[in-house]
Amino acid sequence: MKLASVTVDGVRRAGVVDEAEQSIALLPTTVDDIVRGGPAGERGDVLPLSSVRLESPLHRFNRDVLCTGWNYVDHFEESKGRREGQDPVALPEHPTFFTKGPDTVIGPYDDIAYDPDISQKWDYEAEIALVIGLDGRSIPEEKALDHVFGFLVANDVSQRDLQRAHGGQWLKGKSLDATMPLGPWITTADSADLTEMQVQCEVNGVLLQNASSAQMAFSFARIIAELSHGMTLRAGDVILTGTPSGIGNAREPQIFLRDGDVVVTRVSGLGELRNTVTLTDKLTRS
Ligand code: MG
Repeated sequence: MKLASVTVDGVRRAGVVDEAEQSIALLPTTVDDIVRGGPAGERGDVLPLSSVRLESPLHRFNRDVLCTGWNYVDHFEESKGRREGQDPVALPEHPTFFTKGPDTVIGPYDDIAYDPDISQKWDYEAEIALVIGLDGRSIPEEKALDHVFGFLVANDVSQRDLQRAHGGQWLKGKSLDATMPLGPWITTADSADLTEMQVQCEVNGVLLQNASSAQMAFSFARIIAELSHGMTLRAGDVILTGTPSGIGNAREPQIFLRDGDVVVTRVSGLGELRNTVTLTDKLTRS
């Protein structure tokens, strides 16, 4: 099942997107509540998908969005010597984690709030995200996928100069307001084919990232097991699982996002995000 979020007549609602991605059946509740175990209720009005504007599926965050760094071996290798003092010697034995503030989150078709006065090095990172649907602490790897509600697409848009300017940290450079598209809907875990996920990012129609999730160094289950070790994960927590190679900072010459760039982030089976990089003073917010 594909669960999306829309606002109809001023009320935010969950909706079920049909298999052909042509229509959405409204539900009398929100995705945030369903993810936390609330009843989905009876399906109501069915609207053409083209007649609504999908929002981020999730709006209520328990805490920061949880993120995984360096999870594709080729991405780890491409950035060697380009991390300005943040280079580990070898691929870590355990996943690297950091977080992004919830104010980063925007919808699947919203503008990315771009401000060249804050950063000159805006980069893209296509990623598979997952949503926790069952609380757990120190979850064993073999049971970890039982705690996943579903999967969706994210772009961990990053400011490389801010990452470097503030010491060996990833908070600044990963948490600017309205910079992380999420969606377009949550594909529930029972509908997601985890063996066939191709992660792609296009900027202005040029394919810059294109990798299979089979290249991940740490599986979804391993990420959940390690992240939950001694730290409770709760229904509604969002986890990003890392980006493959092809980021702009590691290219020769480097590519950084600019006003007007169109970023398409796609994961096969999960849908695609389409966002325009837009100067913050030109943004119109509904
Ligand atoms: Mg990332």
